[in-house]
Order: sequence, then structure tokens, then C-alpha cells
Amino acid sequence: MDEAAEWESFFGAMGKYVPRDARLMICQFRGDPNDIEKQNWAAKTYGPGKIDEGANVYVCVSAMKQNERGEYRRRKENFAGGLCLMIDDIGTGAGAKFSMDIISVLPCTALIETSKDNYQAVYMFDCAVTDIGLFERLIKGFIDKQFMGNDPGMAGVNRVFRPPVGVNGKPKHRTANGKQWKVRLASLDADRRYAPEALAAAFGVDLTAPVVNRGMPRGATVDKQDSILAFRNVRKALRQAKMLKTLMADMAGWSQIVCPWTDEHSGAANSGAAIREPNEENGWTGAFRCHHGHCADKGWRHLTEWVAEQDEAILEAANENAGEWEKWQ
Ligand SMILES: [Zn+2]
Repeated sequence: MDEAAEWESFFGAMGKYVPRDARLMICQFRGDPNDIEKQNWAAKTYGPGKIDEGANVYVCVSAMKQNERGEYRRRKENFAGGLCLMIDDIGTGAGAKFSMDIISVLPCTALIETSKDNYQAVYMFDCAVTDIGLFERLIKGFIDKQFMGNDPGMAGVNRVFRPPVGVNGKPKHRTANGKQWKVRLASLDADRRYAPEALAAAFGVDLTAPVVNRGMPRGATVDKQDSILAFRNVRKALRQAKMLKTLMADMAGWSQIVCPWTDEHSGAANSGAAIREPNEENGWTGAFRCHHGHCADKGWRHLTEWVAEQDEAILEAANENAGEWEKWQ
């Protein structure tokens, strides 16, 4: 099979049980996925001619249908059915966490090499899993078993993974001759299909454990990675709202922003506000300061709460662009 036939057959297998009114959802962007300016987690529907083979490409584990406003989005409210479960970082490559033995208990539907010797195993379901609670408990169970990354943006039914097309844009995964790693299909058996219960049983996952929805991490109890991820999302939301004045932080880690409470500054002066990158000093959460008297008591928590209260576009950027923290390392 040539490359296009391979990844198209993968999408064909993914789409087998997509309900009539639903779609496969993809995200794609070129460049280094570690670079927050390059990231674009906005999803669009999959279809002929839509894949950019020079981009990092991601597909959602669930089929999505239109919401009340007629939009296909990669959000819980658009959920139409779970299609597969993906176990990440298998093999012997840099960043691999498990040996191939981990999937010997159950042969996978597809195996995808996302960087040299680093694989994702995809287990496709034998129907669309329309019970969102069941799918959430399955994902949660696999996260608890450490079979999946555990960042807040990736805990849900809207998580994404790399299909066997496009590139891994991370510079460290370039090949010896300097080319970007092409994500490839190592194996596909589209007829291998599993019920969620069968997957849970094979991997010793408890499907009865309740799912606790996780919000934006904050405070001292969240770990450092989650805090840094949350900072990046807030920063990106500010950038998308055109409130980030400087793309590069200064030597001390501060970036000037438009203060959300500018209207209440004396003379409505648009000055004096900045955010600081997460560091030891601020407990890795990031920091906010504004020199205006009205804002004297405002800190990082006030800023994140303000972001979370904003319109849907900003809210989405803050909560849903998290991507795959594991893949950003
Ligand atoms: Zn202010």
C-alpha cells in the first residue's frame, strides 16, 4: 500500500461506526508542537482533501455531532460516540514508557509509530460507544493505570491522538538527515474490534470507579506540570484575545498584558499589567501584577477566574487546547 492508501484505510476503520449525523474531528498545524504560537487545537471535520501531510495531525477519539448552534466542535456537548482507546508511548524510543509486552494481552487494531521506535496502540470499538459515562470511566481507568497521559485537557472524551499521517514536528524527533519524522502506520487489522468491557477486563481496569471532573488546576496541591500547562493556556487565551502585548517575556519572566480591569484604572490607562512565567517563587502557577491602585489586590487567581468567565472562544482556548502534555516534553 502507498502512504495515502494506508492512512486513508486507517481513517476508514476509525469512521466505520461514526453515526450518520456525526463526524471524525481532526486538528492540525505545522511546526513544533511545543511552540505555543504554532499550536492550533481548533478541530474541524475530517473529509477528503482536508489533511495537511506537512502538519502535526491529530484525530479525536470520539465522533462529534453538531451542537444546538449547528457547529461541529471537539467538545463534550458535541459527543456522539466513542470510537477507540489509545495507549501511548510504547516501544524502545526516546520517551517510551512501556515495552511492547504491555499490549501482548490483547492484539490492537492499529499500531502507529509517532517517533522513532515510539508507538501508539489503538483499540477500536465494535460499535460507537454512545454511553458517555461508560467511555469516561474507561478513559479514567486507563489513566489511573498510567496507560495514558494524565493532564487535565486530555482526561476527557475529546482527547486526541496522532493518526498515521503528517509529521511529528518536534525538533528532537528529526531523522539523521534532518527531516521531520513522518508518522506512520506499523500495522492495521480493521476487523479487530472490542467492546469497552473487554478492553477493561484485559487490562485490569475498573469500570465502576466514579469519574471526577477536573477543572483548571490551581493552588499548591496540583503538580508542577499541570500548573505550567494551565499557565500556558491562560497565556494563549490572552494572546487570542489580543491582550498579550509582548510575545517574549523579559529577563525576569514578565510579559506585558492589557489589564482586564483597565476601565477601572485612573484615566483608564492601558499600562502597568503583566504576567510572569511559572517559577519556584510563585509556586509554578505563574503570577499577575498590575501597578494600578484598583488592582493592588489582584493576583494570578483573579486573572484565571476572569479568563474563565470570558466568552466562549477564550474559555475554549483556556480549557480545551491543552493537547497532549506528554507530547510536549
Ligand atoms: Zn489593572
